[in-house]
Amino acid sequence: MRRTLPMFKKLIIELQSNCNRDCFFCSRRWDKSGKRLGPDGKRIIRSMPTESALRILDQASSMGFRGYTTFHLFSEPFLDKRIIEMAREAEKRGLRPYEHTNGDVLKHNDALCKAAAEVFEYIVVGLYDYENESELAEEKRFWRQKLQGTRVLFSEVGKVTPRTLTPYDPRMAENKKTYPGCFCQEPLLRLIVQYDGTIAFCCEDMKDDFGFGSAFDASIEEIWYSERHVRIVKDLKQGLRGKYPLCAGCPIPPIHHTGLPRIARGLRRRLTSLIKKPRGAG
Ligand code: SF4
Repeated sequence: MRRTLPMFKKLIIELQSNCNRDCFFCSRRWDKSGKRLGPDGKRIIRSMPTESALRILDQASSMGFRGYTTFHLFSEPFLDKRIIEMAREAEKRGLRPYEHTNGDVLKHNDALCKAAAEVFEYIVVGLYDYENESELAEEKRFWRQKLQGTRVLFSEVGKVTPRTLTPYDPRMAENKKTYPGCFCQEPLLRLIVQYDGTIAFCCEDMKDDFGFGSAFDASIEEIWYSERHVRIVKDLKQGLRGKYPLCAGCPIPPIHHTGLPRIARGLRRRLTSLIKKPRGAG
């Protein structure tokens, strides 16, 4: 297969559809399409078949992918009892498992914490309940102690920003705005397979707006290097967000996930404001 794009940096395989929380900043709360919540707001409980998840790991490994791999998207990965086994399967194939969690399942399960710390290269714990700085510091101390043996990072509610589906909320750290004419690198960072097999173009593509089809019907290699995927990635590199309705209304800034450890928010904002509109971009 002609490799007309760089390899993705991270592989996301969403093992199941559910989350036990209902956070104001999370896109899943606002998607009542029947994918994660029904029109009545009821949770959809579905899982990716184990053989499909393993097949995707095999395919990624055969492509030569050796990067970070995770098992959540808009779902809580530790609600799935296969999580540790799946991370071990990823590791066996030369991939590097990491995970994000709200911590609720782990909190009272020391054996699970130990197994998770052994297999995941790093774990990002969402801290959503603290009331002040001293509670925040205490929560961090708690998780570093619980997950000894792995690198523990945090996602703090005080730093959340708007997403495509989330309305602006005054508790968010930034206003909601769009970036017409700016490039977007998000689609090159991750290959995302949702629990039902559908490929998401980026984390904002929750409702399959781009229609890349299912990893249950085609290999991830075929989808990643497909002519259409390559063309849209290149359009976004050129700053052509306006060609695609989802991108035109997208609040994700061009410099968002930099791959650099903990780039300062202020610096990121300054860099974003310095980005010039590419010549010829709409
Ligand atoms: S502009 Fe937004 S919706 Fe479009 S690819 Fe980038 S992050 Fe996704």
